[in-house]
Amino acid sequence: MEPTGILPIVIEIAYLLAAVLFIVGLARLSSPTTARGGNFLGAVGMALAMVATLLDTHIVSFTWIIVGVVIGSAIGAFLARWVKMTAMPQMVAVFNGFGGGASALVAAAEYLREGGSAAESFSVSLTIMLSVLIGAVTFSGSFIAWAKLEGHFERALTYPGQQVVNALIFLVGIAAGVFLILSGQHVDVFIVLAGVSLILGVLFVMPIGGADMPVVVALLNSYSGLAAAATGFVLGNAALIISGALVGASGIILSNIMCRAMNRSLANVLFGAFGSQAEAVGGGGTAAEGKIVRDINAEDAAIMMAYSDSVVFVPGYGMAVAQAQHQVRELAELLGERGVSVKFAIHPVAGRMPGHMNVLLAEANVPYDQLFEMDQINPEMERTDVAVVIGANDVVNPDAEENKSSPLYGMPIIKVHDAHNCIVMKRSLNPGFAGVDNPLFYKDKTRMLFGDAKKSLTALVNELKKID
Ligand code: NDP
Repeated sequence: MEPTGILPIVIEIAYLLAAVLFIVGLARLSSPTTARGGNFLGAVGMALAMVATLLDTHIVSFTWIIVGVVIGSAIGAFLARWVKMTAMPQMVAVFNGFGGGASALVAAAEYLREGGSAAESFSVSLTIMLSVLIGAVTFSGSFIAWAKLEGHFERALTYPGQQVVNALIFLVGIAAGVFLILSGQHVDVFIVLAGVSLILGVLFVMPIGGADMPVVVALLNSYSGLAAAATGFVLGNAALIISGALVGASGIILSNIMCRAMNRSLANVLFGAFGSQAEAVGGGGTAAEGKIVRDINAEDAAIMMAYSDSVVFVPGYGMAVAQAQHQVRELAELLGERGVSVKFAIHPVAGRMPGHMNVLLAEANVPYDQLFEMDQINPEMERTDVAVVIGANDVVNPDAEENKSSPLYGMPIIKVHDAHNCIVMKRSLNPGFAGVDNPLFYKDKTRMLFGDAKKSLTALVNELKKID
């Protein structure tokens, strides 16, 4: 039953309000101090849009909707509590997949509701096909991304002529879509379109190395937004169009920010097959020949920090693995009580997902005003007494500035090598994500504090407490 009276106006106003909440919420996500509130505003906007949608259009029975809401909410709440912080990228990948899949299913239902015939208008037909194509690619691609992030078939799978094969399959999908838009009832061709799109999602992600998956997930997030926006056009639902467009735009912006921070183009991430073979590893776990590694114990490291004026912590993926954020905060507090200036330098791609370090440090209640972005902290490095690298590697690799043959060359880094002293906490000389040796470990000013970051930090805290 169509809504009557003032209800359609109320619904449109609710959608408009929801859209405003999405936009304000997104804007507030840009700073850690306002991000929590921004997230909340987005959730309120979504709740409003859902209630308005339930008041809207042709709902025959609420039974299935309630069953879906209860099952979906239970799974969502369970996952949010159960999934570890380090597995967040996998969870986001799965969410994107479901988003894309849902858009494709809604569009398919619209198509089949019309009895499988071409929809009444060209634009609706076009958006149905786009929604199915993009939604199904997002669905299957996201689950491959999830599997790669979980460590299954991580290696980039490539073979000669791969791009040509993928392009031909893509063309088959486009041809099926065009045929369906122009012709009448062809459920069989519709199934071909859906099938080809699912295959394309798999083929699109398989040639990309597992380590590049966070960028792919951001891109698939963008696709899920585009699929949702297309579905919004199919249903004539303004809230879906706006929220889909926002997700589509922010996903692509995020992918670009990540690529820039890694000094790689999006094309290189998608088609460069980074990780198709073992990368050259300089260190390989032991000191490269002829290079001297100077280590330090927790007692001496604590003394060095305690008697300095300024300490900059540089967290990386290893801090996330060790879950050492609470120990870092404790150490920072103890140093602060001694009058040492303490700052945290956050590299945009430290860790394995955007904002990884910010999330962990926020969880440990590190004050936001102690967090500094790369561009803010680098000019201060030369005046810093001790730079303490906690499980970071690539994001502090001086080869990115000095060695033109390094795969990292050109990537902006946090210049810990400019500080008066540098302490690096990690378990070995093993490389990080990029698989390359790090000359920082062999510099005169560098001291290696070997061991699990949490254990080292706990030892540092204990040693610091002993110092008067
Ligand atoms: P890296 O991956 O370069 O290095 C992490 C280091 O942590 C390893 O060398 C490892 O050394 C150490 N480590 C692992 N576990 C522990 C532990 N328990 N205790 C102490 N140390 C540990 O991390 P970075 O954060 O420096 O760089 C991130 C990399 O990921 C960049 O190359 C970036 O381009 C890439 N990337 C980031 C994305 C993002 O969104 N953030 C997305 C895609 C890629 P050892 O084994 O010796 O302990």
